[in-house]
Amino acid sequence: MLFISHDLAVVSQVAARVAVMYAGSVVELGPRNEIFRSPAHPYTRGLLHSVPDLKTDRTHPLETIEGTVPPLQAMPPGCAFEPRCAFRILECARALPPLVEVAPGHWARCPVVNAK
Ligand code: SF4
Repeated sequence: MLFISHDLAVVSQVAARVAVMYAGSVVELGPRNEIFRSPAHPYTRGLLHSVPDLKTDRTHPLETIEGTVPPLQAMPPGCAFEPRCAFRILECARALPPLVEVAPGHWARCPVVNAK
C-alpha cells in the first residue's frame, strides 16, 4: 500500500519504508527507522527538526526551513533544495544529484552531506 501524507507522526506509525519528496523528486528513501533516526538529506533533517516532541522548549518558536519550494515553471537545474540548503556548494546548482546509497537500502539525493 502506498500512503501519502504530510503528517510525520502518522507516517512513523504506519510505514515500513519511507520516501521523502521535495519539489517533485524523491530526495530520500529507506526503512522507516533509518529515515527517522538517521536522516541523510538536509530537507529530511529540516522536516524532522520542525516537529515538536515532549522535550521541545515551548518558550521558543519551532524550527522552520527558511525559504519556499521553487515554482514548478522555474525549477533550478541542480538540486531543487539548493536555494534553501545550509550545506550547499557551487556544484549543487549545476545538476540534479543522483540518489546514492548511504546505508543498506537507505538512499539520499545529496552527495555533499553524505560525503562528509
Ligand atoms: S545536493 Fe547540495 S543543495 Fe542539495 S541538499 Fe545536498 S548539499 Fe544541499
